[in-house]
Amino acid sequence: MTGSFRFIVDENVGKLARWLRMMGYDTLIFTGVDDSQMVTRALDEDRVILTRDTQIMRRRAVAGGRVAAVLIRSDNPERQMRQVVEVLNLDCQFRPFTVCLECNQLLEERSREQVQERVPPYVFQTQQRYMECPGCHRIYWRGTHWEAMSKKLENICSR
Ligand SMILES: [Zn+2]
Repeated sequence: MTGSFRFIVDENVGKLARWLRMMGYDTLIFTGVDDSQMVTRALDEDRVILTRDTQIMRRRAVAGGRVAAVLIRSDNPERQMRQVVEVLNLDCQFRPFTVCLECNQLLEERSREQVQERVPPYVFQTQQRYMECPGCHRIYWRGTHWEAMSKKLENICSR
């Protein structure tokens, strides 16, 4: 795996979190008001900051290179994602069953029987593999939503 990046994503580019989680990256969304908290957290947990806020880039830990940060240029989520992939040279592997897209917890494998009551019947009929988030208890499978997202991600990576 090319660099095991971990991320902290500023709320102003919050949509990036889902893409990164889909690629299997541990990604926090920072929702606080105090930027210094985000920088401290990045420093403590060795996370790369993604933000559109130029003020953050001027903070000492960032400007001095102790914390890695990417200033996102576009306000279009797909272009934002392309910038991150390019700048950090991400390997564009999809690891969609690794991290919860909603809350960033590591997913756990479940058998079909375990999820039978909790997924729509047509899903149960057609899907073999399921993962569950221990945090929000969302169940994941390779449905149409997943396919649409992975196609977009493929597009982003192939340019
Ligand atoms: Zn979750």
